[in-house]
Amino acid sequence: MSKKVVVIGEAREGSLRNVTFEAIAAAKIISDGGEVVGVLCGAGDLQESGREMVYYGADRVVTVSHEELKTYTSEGYVQAVHAVIEDESPEGIVMGHTSIGKELTPKLASRLQSGLISDATEVVNEGNSVVFTRPIYSGKAFEKKAITDGITFATIRPNNIPSLDRNDSLQGEVTEKGVEIKNIRTIIKDVIRKSSEGVDLSEAKVIVAGGRGVKSSEGFKPLEELAEVLGGTVGASRGACDAGYCDYALQIGQTGKVVTPDLYIACGISGAIQHLAGMSNSKVIVAINKDPEANIFNVADYGIVGDLFEVVPKLIEELKQL
Ligand code: FAD
Repeated sequence: MSKKVVVIGEAREGSLRNVTFEAIAAAKIISDGGEVVGVLCGAGDLQESGREMVYYGADRVVTVSHEELKTYTSEGYVQAVHAVIEDESPEGIVMGHTSIGKELTPKLASRLQSGLISDATEVVNEGNSVVFTRPIYSGKAFEKKAITDGITFATIRPNNIPSLDRNDSLQGEVTEKGVEIKNIRTIIKDVIRKSSEGVDLSEAKVIVAGGRGVKSSEGFKPLEELAEVLGGTVGASRGACDAGYCDYALQIGQTGKVVTPDLYIACGISGAIQHLAGMSNSKVIVAINKDPEANIFNVADYGIVGDLFEVVPKLIEELKQL
């Protein structure tokens, strides 16, 4: 049965995050031929970003532009998105399972008296219900869930549901809705970014991660070079962060970021269960470790037993020749 599905878009520094396009693809599956309506909040002119959502498959987009929405606050965004949802009365809502998605969607679900399936890695429309697959027990198992009553509301994990191909000839209206944003009790004075460069870890296609085996912040240099050659970004284990070799913004794992890149290269990481919780669903895992018994080899597709300071430069050299 076709449904109207709202996709909550997310932009960072003026650019839409890839997971927005993946959410549109998920919304298409849920809608089963129904209408997919994008919602975009921010300040200034959001027309261009709205159009981009159309190019990736949204049938139309509603933007809410307001000075109070310049920087994300859940108070402001809940009011804006809720106003659009009230107008649209959708049967489904999808958003990326990002830091913002994780905070905004439960608040919206509570306002809408709706259920919420979070962190879905797969969406299948089985005709009479939409079934979501999501990891449980820190990624050690998966469960399948469906919402049988009310709004089908879900967040999707970045990098798992492929977005549709961009088609700039797609036509769809981008309209602006005026919403009165009031009673904001949070004032954002400044946003200080810890890692200003590189690709966002949760959306990266290639991650070269370093652990305590990297031994120093200087030791991360070859990993940064390898990441650059592969067009990826650098991540880390908590061991490396705790040792002060890198910033906690790079931490991957149970208490860090959850990532699912196409390629994950673990260098000098033992493979503790808490680290695996954040990366074991990567599509291809390569482990470089001098201990052949290291647990990381149990989840690796390819293992190299050796000293990372010898192996990584060799890899860089070979890759540069391709
Ligand atoms: P180690 O376990 O010390 O491993 C270093 C590895 O480097 C070893 O396998 C060694 O053989 C190898 N090595 C050393 N030198 C070289 C070399 N020259 N070349 C190649 N290999 C070399 N950890 C996370 O990563 N993320 C989390 O989110 C996280 N959350 C946690 C939450 C809780 C509640 C707890 C209790 C722990 C958490 N941890 C987390 C910590 C986790 O248990 C491990 O302590 C941590 O992952 C170990 O980091 P590591 O693999 O870098 O270090």
